[in-house]
Amino acid sequence: MEERAPNGDRIELLEHLPQEYEAVVGPALSQVGQPAYRARQVARWIYDRYASSFDEMTDLPTDLRPLLERQFSASPLEMAYQARSRDGTIKHLWRLHDGEQIESVLIPTADRVTLCLSSQAGCALACRFCATGDFGFRRHLSAAEIVAQFRDSELVARHAFGRGIANVVYMGMGEPLANLEAVLTSLSVLHGGFGFGARRITVSTVGLIPGIRALAERPEPFRLAVSLHAPEHALRERLVPVEKRYPLPELFSALREYQEIKGRRITFEYTMIDGVNDSDELAHSLADLLNDLDGFVNLIPYNPIPGHDFAPSAPERIASFSAVLQERGVEAAVRRPRGRDIAAACGQLRLEREDPGN
Ligand code: SF4
Repeated sequence: MEERAPNGDRIELLEHLPQEYEAVVGPALSQVGQPAYRARQVARWIYDRYASSFDEMTDLPTDLRPLLERQFSASPLEMAYQARSRDGTIKHLWRLHDGEQIESVLIPTADRVTLCLSSQAGCALACRFCATGDFGFRRHLSAAEIVAQFRDSELVARHAFGRGIANVVYMGMGEPLANLEAVLTSLSVLHGGFGFGARRITVSTVGLIPGIRALAERPEPFRLAVSLHAPEHALRERLVPVEKRYPLPELFSALREYQEIKGRRITFEYTMIDGVNDSDELAHSLADLLNDLDGFVNLIPYNPIPGHDFAPSAPERIASFSAVLQERGVEAAVRRPRGRDIAAACGQLRLEREDPGN
């Protein structure tokens, strides 16, 4: 299986930092006798004005624009579908050059808009409660395909909510740290190209230790979230099969190292599934596990997926689980699932609009 879709032979501009544009675009400019500063103009259009085509770059000579368009791309996504929830959530299904489809979600709250973006088409990790896992792995996204979700969603957010994206979370389709190189490049471009604050970007992982170490080495203060879902090995292996490869003791030793290096709080995502992982006893195990870490737990009622037999925990059960954590000194919050009426859980929109057997 091919892992990356070629975009013709065009060079993806969204994979490069503005300071690289002279080296990337410069040779094409000099071939047609254009000065090198045109490359800086292109970078300004892409990163300051969110342009996605050379047609928009009105201070470039008219005959230069189609020449550049043939060699460079800044629009790897096409909007295939947009769904708006009654609660304001906007979900996009994006079509890629090879016909694959991925999702991203804009989630507005009273004071900010959060973008949840995808890092892979499908996912190989087969978590039991996840719609994306049902498709299996299709391919990694390129850095440009990841960055373009931000750029295109930012324009939608400004128009729909009157303000831009405040937070980006890598929590859509795919496991970001399984597509490490592209994800690290996309982080560089969001931060160094679009000037998006590193503290406002969260990378969420099911616990791929090499990727956690790579993030720890980055100088920027990106945030880390870990999808935990169970505090004990056997149960976690059942819900999150990658637990077999990176079991909890090793994962937590990597997280402690991460915290020592970065000095940053780690968020833990815990999907509350009725009768599966929501007992008070497991809340105590979770508190034991987080004992020597600065962590914050998000308790997320399971979002039902067609064809899966799990159900969300009852509100009283979640309250009790949360109370145990608080008593034990672990900070936790219950998160309301957003956009249920538009299938906003990762992978669900695609699942609804495409037979997974296709
Ligand atoms: S929860 Fe994340 S890592 Fe697990 S199958 Fe779904 S997309 Fe993959």
